Amino acid sequence: MFKCILIKKDEAGYRAALTDLDEAQLPEGDVTVRVSHSTLNYKDALAITGKGPVVRTFPMAPGIDLAGTVEHSTHPDYKVGDAVILNGWGVGETHWGGLAQKARVNGNWLVPLPAQFTPQQAMAIGTAGYTAMLCVLALERHGVTPAHGEILVTGAAGGVGSVATAVLTRLGYRVVAVSGRPAETDYLKRLGAVEVLDRATFATPGKPLGKERWAGAVDVVGSHTLANVCATTKYRGVVTACGLAGGMDFPATVAPFILRGVTLVGIDSVMCPRPERLEAWRRLASDLDVAKLATISQEVGLTDVLHLASKLLNGEVRCRVIVDVNR
Ligand code: NDP
Repeated sequence: MFKCILIKKDEAGYRAALTDLDEAQLPEGDVTVRVSHSTLNYKDALAITGKGPVVRTFPMAPGIDLAGTVEHSTHPDYKVGDAVILNGWGVGETHWGGLAQKARVNGNWLVPLPAQFTPQQAMAIGTAGYTAMLCVLALERHGVTPAHGEILVTGAAGGVGSVATAVLTRLGYRVVAVSGRPAETDYLKRLGAVEVLDRATFATPGKPLGKERWAGAVDVVGSHTLANVCATTKYRGVVTACGLAGGMDFPATVAPFILRGVTLVGIDSVMCPRPERLEAWRRLASDLDVAKLATISQEVGLTDVLHLASKLLNGEVRCRVIVDVNR
């Protein structure tokens, strides 16, 4: 038997609860992992509360991230005892995920745990941190260097924003953070932000073009915020869009793209090809100050996840939540 958060949807309604399950109930896969840690991401919170259509089949074990040890494998790349991590690939959406003490998955989805990280540290990073690194890689791929100017990070006190701020600062960029929580200003400055702007400045409809300021941006908010970020990005600047914390719409004009040559880069972590994942984790190992992970994360037990999910959606949870699934 193992413990697991299980989401059900039937005549009794949509609900998530801590449940004891038999290993025989695990889904198909060529690698069984004894999970040690998972995380609580924005997407997991949507799945647990039912506030977003994340879960495609029921019942579902949520959890888009996991870290653990291989317990059984018929996959050529993995043997018993290997330390592994998993981010995305529909885990926690269409295939049972990491908020459980066991998981059975397709071995092709796994990534060896980078030697620089403990399982807790890898989960402090999790999908949010790996997505932040995909944004950084995209900025670099499009030629943005620290010499080009300031980088704006929205939703900065959240998971993606915190890791993006820490990594970009370490790489020598001047990071300007956008946050709706003035109480987190000190936290953001400790991560390296040189300035913290009020999220309200970006949240309402703005002009098609504003004063040029940003060489690049990492946006997790979408909606008017993304439109205003694009409108204030410098000539030939690069905006990476990875989130919808403020809304799924994009009420913008094409002016920044056709008059200033701004590039808008979409970032998806879920189906991101394996070579780019490995590159993102390799770069996290070299460009993220491991000492900052303690500041960026808090650890909770499996049972805490249920009430934290609503708080996270309300923007009341700072940074990354590591889940010790055996607590
Ligand atoms: P978090 O909840 O940790 O952080 C989101 C942050 O956004 C909050 O901390 C808050 O920051 C800000 N925020 C929240 N609500 C609003 C709002 N209404 N208007 C403006 N800002 C708001 O989530 P994550 O960092 O884990 O994820 C951020 C987004 O990125 C989510 O939409 C998530 O779904 C998406 N995502 C996408 C991925 C992909 O593959 N494309 C992968 C991972 C995440 P503050 O308090 O500082 O203002």
